[in-house]
Amino acid sequence: MNISHQLTVTVLGCGNSAGTPTICNYWGNCDPAEPRNRRTRPAIAVQSATTTLIVDSGPDLREQVNRENITSIDAILYTHAHGDHISGIDDLRVLRQKTKKYVHIHGNRATIEELQQRFDYLFMERTPIYPRVLEPHILETADFLTPQAIGDVTFTPFEQDHGTCASLGYRFGDLAYSTDLVRLDEKAVAALSGIKTWIIDGAGYKMPVNEVHLTFRQIFALNEIVKAEKVYITHLSPAMDYQTMRKELPEGYEPCWDGLKLQVSA
Ligand SMILES: [Zn+2]
Repeated sequence: MNISHQLTVTVLGCGNSAGTPTICNYWGNCDPAEPRNRRTRPAIAVQSATTTLIVDSGPDLREQVNRENITSIDAILYTHAHGDHISGIDDLRVLRQKTKKYVHIHGNRATIEELQQRFDYLFMERTPIYPRVLEPHILETADFLTPQAIGDVTFTPFEQDHGTCASLGYRFGDLAYSTDLVRLDEKAVAALSGIKTWIIDGAGYKMPVNEVHLTFRQIFALNEIVKAEKVYITHLSPAMDYQTMRKELPEGYEPCWDGLKLQVSA
């Protein structure tokens, strides 16, 4: 176990797959005058004094990293291979050029294989002008629930059911990040035991049922078991207005916003 230290977790983006406003300035139910309704695609940064990990490289990656003045990235952890979580991956070429090192990416086997298929040029050297960019690391099933270290940051991956595919959740000390899920099994719940803060997908909002995302009612039921003191809801759609949700949510529950920073004991 590492010596106990503080991590800063920054919500880089808490929007859903389309962001808010979506293309062509569609705000849905969201009040355009509320700054916290302006949301980029889902991602977080996890930082110690010396190490920066980014969870997911969606289409807004470059703007998110620059907005938070993040000047180096040690690795990307992927939750799954849906477009809103991966399609900023091409921007990692610049890190390769700048540092002369491969960019390390981690994810489950299905995610890494899909990235290799869809972005094959990032995994191979075609010509010296276009060098290989990425060094992939597959988190196998045996690695789930086992703490992994990158620099001085330790994380524990756990599997989530995202309806049409599996996604990975990640625990960092007493915080866990669970985006894109509709169910958790007993192993995942065990991995969450003792967390204080939980960032969790609530894109199902008030729907009676959603096949790929959690509804608020399901989040409340899950947290009856997990018992996180503070729950921040992410993957927010244009149907979900910040101030409306603040009024609807009970104590201990809050919607995320882009730029939210949380301190974590790890
Ligand atoms: Zn997804």
